[in-house]
Amino acid sequence: MASPTLSPAPTAPMAELYEALLARIDSAAKRAGRSGDDINLVAVTKTHGPEVVREAVDAGMTCFGENKVQEAAWKIPLSPSCAHWQLIGHLQSNKARHAVRLFEVIHSVDSIKLFDTLEQAARQAGTRPEIYLELNVSGEPSKYGLSPEAAPEVVEHILNHAQALSLTGLMTMAPFDPEREHARPHFARLRQVQGELSARFGLDLPHLSMGMTNDFEVAIEEGATDVRIGTALFGARPKLSALRPAPDADTTSGML
Ligand SMILES: *Cc1c(COP(=O)(O)O)cnc(C)c1O
Repeated sequence: MASPTLSPAPTAPMAELYEALLARIDSAAKRAGRSGDDINLVAVTKTHGPEVVREAVDAGMTCFGENKVQEAAWKIPLSPSCAHWQLIGHLQSNKARHAVRLFEVIHSVDSIKLFDTLEQAARQAGTRPEIYLELNVSGEPSKYGLSPEAAPEVVEHILNHAQALSLTGLMTMAPFDPEREHARPHFARLRQVQGELSARFGLDLPHLSMGMTNDFEVAIEEGATDVRIGTALFGARPKLSALRPAPDADTTSGML
């Protein structure tokens, strides 16, 4: 597989970008009466190669997010072994077997079927990943995720069947909007659903994964515990079509 090395040069040394980002995270947390130490930064390295992960580790980052199993399967073995990996992107059931070995946290569980496949795969692999339920709180048809109305049935199923997996959080993506304040009601809604599910099932759901480069400060103000940030750290991403001749080619099983 060709190595994606088209990452644009960062505008400042990575350690500086990282420090600046941590300062913004801390300010947003303080505005909400919290501490930046309570917020987990998932550094999103999708489309960037292992050399970028290495630089990020040298700058002090430890937790990385990928959105494609196939890309992660290539990158993770070439990256520093101290890195922790989380899956933030949509997951197809046929990649579950790989996902439970590669990732400590899977943010994108959005159906009973996917949960069942992951649960079985994790038992077979002897791994114990955490899972978050992905919710589509904005109702945008182009977005993955459960509607808030559909979530209780899935939570109930998970609570009755989870042995290897543990449900510890919720995730959402706000619609893209240059006006970041427009994201606020979506993040507030995810937090509301967190409260409703916790109360209904007597469940601890400590993680709220919400906020990206464009809107993470608003997300933190609304209760985010995990922010998923790529562009602010690693620059604009190259178009996928520049990385691979066939971005949709499903060759994971042959490659692994
Ligand atoms: C790419 C991606 C991010 C990071 O986006 P940036 O705008 O680059 O910070 C966060 N979450 C998900 C699900 C993503 O796919």
